[in-house]
Amino acid sequence: MTKNPCTICGEPRLVGVELCMYHWNEWNWGKDWADKVRAGEPAGPAPTGPRYGMKMQAGDFENLRAAINAARSASEYSLDDYTVAGLSEARYGWDLLWASKFDIRPLYNYLSDRHIETALRRIVMEPV
Ligand SMILES: [Zn+2]
Repeated sequence: MTKNPCTICGEPRLVGVELCMYHWNEWNWGKDWADKVRAGEPAGPAPTGPRYGMKMQAGDFENLRAAINAARSASEYSLDDYTVAGLSEARYGWDLLWASKFDIRPLYNYLSDRHIETALRRIVMEPV
């Protein structure tokens, strides 16, 4: 058993994040680019743009971010507190989502838990 597995695939993860190299690349820059890097193909410079790898639509993301950041401001816990306690940024995101009472049911029309978790992580990892 890997000591610090990637939360998606179980491969060893990078220091400081919950993902392996492949899933970190996919999360940040999209599957096409991550696949090229994994295959050892010349991938060129990483794509740029704030939403690479995000499947959530921009309007939904902005609404979610506003709700999460409001819950975060009201929370007595920071992401650092969670990290010190051995809890993940994903857990912090889901806990803030619950506290926010944000209605995510419409998001499931086109997203899975994994997509929502990706957005949550991205939000809580942004500097406050
Ligand atoms: Zn992985």
